[in-house]
Amino acid sequence: MINGNSLQGRTAIVTGSTSGIGLGIARGLAAAGANIVLNGFGDQKEIDQTRRELRSQTGVQVQYHPADMSRPDQIVAMINDTRSTLGGVDILVNNAGIQKVAPVEEFPVDKWDAIIAINLSSAFHTMRAAVPLMKAKGWGRIINIGSAHSLVASPFKSAYVAAKHGLLGLTRTVALEVAQSGITCNLVCPGYVRTPLVEGQIKDTAKARGISEEAVIRDVMLGEQPTKKFVSLEELAALTVFLCSDTAASITGTALPVDGGWTAH
Ligand code: NAD
Repeated sequence: MINGNSLQGRTAIVTGSTSGIGLGIARGLAAAGANIVLNGFGDQKEIDQTRRELRSQTGVQVQYHPADMSRPDQIVAMINDTRSTLGGVDILVNNAGIQKVAPVEEFPVDKWDAIIAINLSSAFHTMRAAVPLMKAKGWGRIINIGSAHSLVASPFKSAYVAAKHGLLGLTRTVALEVAQSGITCNLVCPGYVRTPLVEGQIKDTAKARGISEEAVIRDVMLGEQPTKKFVSLEELAALTVFLCSDTAASITGTALPVDGGWTAH
């Protein structure tokens, strides 16, 4: 039964949802009633435990698909499998992402290729496969997880900033194409959130900038955010759930910063 702003009866795929922001968003969507397809890498026992936990807390169906977001064939298989088992893809959250911090002249070529594939091209492949399913139902919600780095740059993140700026253009383009089909497409742009991805870049940033790890947190990360606080998973999940509601039908093609004021200056 699909009613008002409840997501009951909807099916959501959240890429990269075995950890961090993706898992937080999957929890939020499940609590709002959507069936969930988890995706991402990780320990199979932990993933099974997360599935059981989510199912028993919310009563929704929770599946897991191991598709590698750098592999277009596996992405198409994930969309097709979801259609077969859960009847479609109503909500698509393109969240999977990786990071590498290094000066451009030392930036490893394989890391450039992987970041463009996982952080940008995967969203093209998921949307290409899922939009026809949404059009067939006359309803869909696409939430791409960009970054403050979709709107501004920082040094030593050439691939990441390029991919996240690209995701902004892709979001706007798809939003225009599907505007009359009951589908919205938006970019959520978080500031720093303390996830494993951010923990991993503290050391590299300290090295690239020649400063201590404490200084990276205080001056580089929270230095960017006027609130001086990390963004929380709950804040990002709540915004995503709202964007999936019927009341958010006219919000499309936007970039929504959730960054403690970072991109205001
Ligand atoms: P994370 O490292 O905690 O989670 C990343 C997820 O992506 C994991 O589930 C991982 O298994 C998955 N993943 C990685 N490579 C994959 C692949 N090839 N195929 C499928 N899944 C893959 O990171 P996070 O901080 O939660 O980041 C999630 C998203 O949020 C990313 O797109 C990131 O750029 C964005 N973001 C994060 C922050 C932050 O401060 N943490 C800020 C802005 C934007």
